[in-house]
Amino acid sequence: MSENKPQSENKPQNFVRTIVQADVDAGNYGGKVHTRFPPEPNGYLHIGHAKSIWLNFGIAADFGGLCNLRFDDTNPETEDMEYVGSIQQDLRWLGYDWEDRLFHASDYFERLYDLAVHLIRRGKAYVCSLSEDEIREYRGTITEAGRNSPYRDRSVEENLDLFERMKNGEFDEGEHVLRAKIDMAATNMKMRDPLLYRIRKKEHYRRGNDWCIYPFYDFTHCLSDSFEGITHSICTLEFEVNRALYDWVVAETEVPHVPHQYEFARLNLSYTVTSKRKLLQLVEEKKVNGWDDPRMPTVSGMRRRGYTPEAIRAFCELTGVSKTHNVIDVALLEYAVRDDLNHKAPRVLAVLRPLKVVIENYPEEVEELDADYWPRDVPREGSRKIPFSREIYIEREDFMEDPPKGYHRLAPGREVRLRYAYFMTCREVVKNDDGEIVELRCTYDPETRGGNAPDGRKVQGTIHWVSAAESLPAEVRLYDRLFLSENPNEGDDFRVHLNPNSLEVLADARVEPSLAESEPGAPFQFERQGYFVADAKRSKPGALVFNRTVTLRDAWVKQAQKEKGEDAAAKAAERAAEREAKKARQRELSAAEPAAPALSAEQEETLRAYMDRGLGEQDARLFATNAGVAAFFDEAAASAGDLRSLANWVANELLGLLKERSLTDLPFQAPAFADLVALVDSGKITAAAGKQVMNEMLAEGGVPAEIVAARGLEQIGSTDELAGIVDGVLADEPDNVAAYKGGKVQLFGFFVGKVMRATQGRADAKTVQKLLRERLDG
Ligand code: ATP
Ligand code: MG
Repeated sequence: MSENKPQSENKPQNFVRTIVQADVDAGNYGGKVHTRFPPEPNGYLHIGHAKSIWLNFGIAADFGGLCNLRFDDTNPETEDMEYVGSIQQDLRWLGYDWEDRLFHASDYFERLYDLAVHLIRRGKAYVCSLSEDEIREYRGTITEAGRNSPYRDRSVEENLDLFERMKNGEFDEGEHVLRAKIDMAATNMKMRDPLLYRIRKKEHYRRGNDWCIYPFYDFTHCLSDSFEGITHSICTLEFEVNRALYDWVVAETEVPHVPHQYEFARLNLSYTVTSKRKLLQLVEEKKVNGWDDPRMPTVSGMRRRGYTPEAIRAFCELTGVSKTHNVIDVALLEYAVRDDLNHKAPRVLAVLRPLKVVIENYPEEVEELDADYWPRDVPREGSRKIPFSREIYIEREDFMEDPPKGYHRLAPGREVRLRYAYFMTCREVVKNDDGEIVELRCTYDPETRGGNAPDGRKVQGTIHWVSAAESLPAEVRLYDRLFLSENPNEGDDFRVHLNPNSLEVLADARVEPSLAESEPGAPFQFERQGYFVADAKRSKPGALVFNRTVTLRDAWVKQAQKEKGEDAAAKAAERAAEREAKKARQRELSAAEPAAPALSAEQEETLRAYMDRGLGEQDARLFATNAGVAAFFDEAAASAGDLRSLANWVANELLGLLKERSLTDLPFQAPAFADLVALVDSGKITAAAGKQVMNEMLAEGGVPAEIVAARGLEQIGSTDELAGIVDGVLADEPDNVAAYKGGKVQLFGFFVGKVMRATQGRADAKTVQKLLRERLDG
């Protein structure tokens, strides 16, 4: 993580990166960047910590710096080795590495004690013998100055003597404390002679009974930062008022290294609590099954539920870094999970609530059918065989005896398609004495193997299934949000908001046999159901247990729209989530705080100027706020034709592929990129081919026109040549051509795709469509 990467200008900006960049540019700290992640080992890490980890480790990595892991373990009452272990495991799983830089504040007790003595010697600290209540009373209020403690003017000698005897255990808890001598009238209450040390006669989980005085956070944290050479001490907004004290302690102890504190808004998620105290309460009161219960917003819970480190990091990136308090919609996290799993999770068949079906005209035998693991929009290969037989299970909710309008699945007398198999018609409903449906008697059409009827007859629905004998039993655990309220922290007791139905256990699910040995953690999409993962703790070959990671769409929106029976609404919600994600990314790119319109007058003017030159607003905004990207664009623009198109390619294609790399460090020059875009604009190559060329240029540089020539990427200009390819594709697909002509018009897209692939993206899609129409419809 700490290899010396060039500082990346193309990285989405946020105010922390901007600060760090300015320090690096100014040569502060010798140009070094050193951050730390400082958890207190009193609970498991949660999604809020993941954000802090992402920021601290991420900033260090961006600037070729280092990030330490430091246990902030100065409280003997709540800390525990269990947490120390879990935190390290979670941090590694998230993809971060502290290398040899694992520290404990409790290792600094000796040094901290010496510095406290140093403060006393300098007359900057004193032993105070007021009780806890008296101290509070003397502190005053926001509107009222505090009063000096009667012990404030103890002599240095007396303070030294008392402090040492505190350390030696001569006093009881609460008898004395050590306080900084600052100003009891300070407007910042934190500066009214804050407490530095207290007596606690408790065993510490690492230091045992070595110490009976323990330093407070405000004394420990800044000095630990100093000892470790931290340059940027990033913490959450609540600590803004502590910053003055942070600086005071560092200055008055006269430590040589002076770190600085910066605050950002903590991550708050709707429908979620992210307070270790509250999470601990849920665990202790057994409202959940442990810290790693898949409903918990802990890193271990999310892992067990099937969330991926990539999704969590992408989510952190999407939410940006803000200085103003805000609440992020938990749907954005779920969106990030779906987005990542979409290209990682092979599609398989599982029936969660089985209903038995006997296919009366199917012989007593088992047939193997081909089934693809990947849908068409995921560019991966792979398939498996699935057994089909006379007795199968379908999803209970895929059959209705008396279906309402708009229900396209199985019903008496109705024909549907069994995914990857045949058309099947329901002939008879078998019920038990209680009138419950226990079985369906159906027939299938042997001519429809693979899912198409040669006579072109259509069915409305496609449903999933598994073979009754060959499928495997499994327990499936469906999770819903843990809280019903958008803000469970509201009110006196967060527990009243708990969702009583946050876990549903389906004990009788059946999954296709290929899942027999599914590795815990390996993601699957159960077709039409959602993403699932084998439970790492409980699933075993022969006793499979799957957790639902996330539904395919936002089920909450779906639920709200259910009465109207609108799948479209759910799809719209999905699109809205995508738009929100995109907007969030755009906000980041334009360096704006989510809440504030961030353009300066000068940037505004630049933005206008770009728009006057024909650029779209989003691109113009990106360039106006991102000098590095703008410089690249300007240089390319000098030799370009269509600026709008060039801007698009820079903003959407090039930046998208760059990832960690910098625009100033490419194996080609900006004008070469303009040449590439011109090749596309002029129609010499297609956009798809343009992307291939761009990829190659990113890898090895080169002249676009030469790459095009060498790879034979020129657009197929002659209609005759293209027509030959189209005819070839159609000749290879007689069954599908027949199906299309029989009415299965959805196949049109399939033919277009085939032709485009056959031309390796060198054909104009419009011409391809025209040629296909002539042949298929003519
Ligand atoms: P909690 O409120 O859950 O007890 P904490 O701040 O007390 O959290 P620490 O172990 O002290 O827990 O946190 C380690 C680091 O993680 C700190 O720097 C803290 O600021 C940061 N952090 C904790 N919660 C969040 C959050 N919701 N968003 C961003 N950073 C967080
Ligand atoms: Mg804390």
